[in-house]
Amino acid sequence: MKNLNVTNSLNENLKRGIRENDGRGKLGVLSGINIRLRKARPFQSEPLDRLAEVMQVSNILKKDKAHRYYKVDFLPQGCLSCIDTVFFDAKYYDMLLPEELLAVGAHEFNHIINRHDIKRFARTLCPPIAVATIIGLLVFANSESMNTIYPFSNLGVSLLMMVACALFFSLVIPFYANAKWHRQQETHCDLSAVKFANGEALISALIKLNKLRPEKPDRFSQFLPVTYPTLEQRIKDIRVAADRKSTLSS
Ligand SMILES: [Zn+2]
Repeated sequence: MKNLNVTNSLNENLKRGIRENDGRGKLGVLSGINIRLRKARPFQSEPLDRLAEVMQVSNILKKDKAHRYYKVDFLPQGCLSCIDTVFFDAKYYDMLLPEELLAVGAHEFNHIINRHDIKRFARTLCPPIAVATIIGLLVFANSESMNTIYPFSNLGVSLLMMVACALFFSLVIPFYANAKWHRQQETHCDLSAVKFANGEALISALIKLNKLRPEKPDRFSQFLPVTYPTLEQRIKDIRVAADRKSTLSS
């Protein structure tokens, strides 16, 4: 009898596990990796859950309530979404008022609805994968001659350097080439968030995030791709969208 109970309990756990896995889908593995790498801590939020229902964020709603939102110790952008999970910088989260949290949540939910994470992943990783594949095929096609030059001749070293450079640039260039596209996605998510949340709350949340960052960017960051519109531009765009919303509702 005891064995039967244990078996039933195992079956229930298995079924529950399958149901939860169905919700996350195969791509949920990416958010799982993110959770482990960032040592993220889960928390529940009824207000965010209600917003997810209003915005019909199916990836979030499919997941169990205990594993939708996570806090991490440091997140430069304050908040980040990945497939079916939203991550908050713990310090930033504590600074947010309820309306600001909803506004930031609406912005992140728009990223999830539009699958920006998958699109960014593809645009960033496809070029280096293509370059690595071409190099691999060339090496395979010329394997006999490669054996004679690698690794003891200058030609072998030169070839290795060329391969390393090709992989490096194919990995770095997409970040710069897609910077404008990233900024457009951020603007789109800001404007869509205003449809579901308070525009002024989104602005005050952005100002709070700006205060968390160092005032003067260091020398190195000046050379990094600009993937977010300026704070001034975001405030301007959000106010235009909020005015339009209030005109339509009056
Ligand atoms: Zn964003």
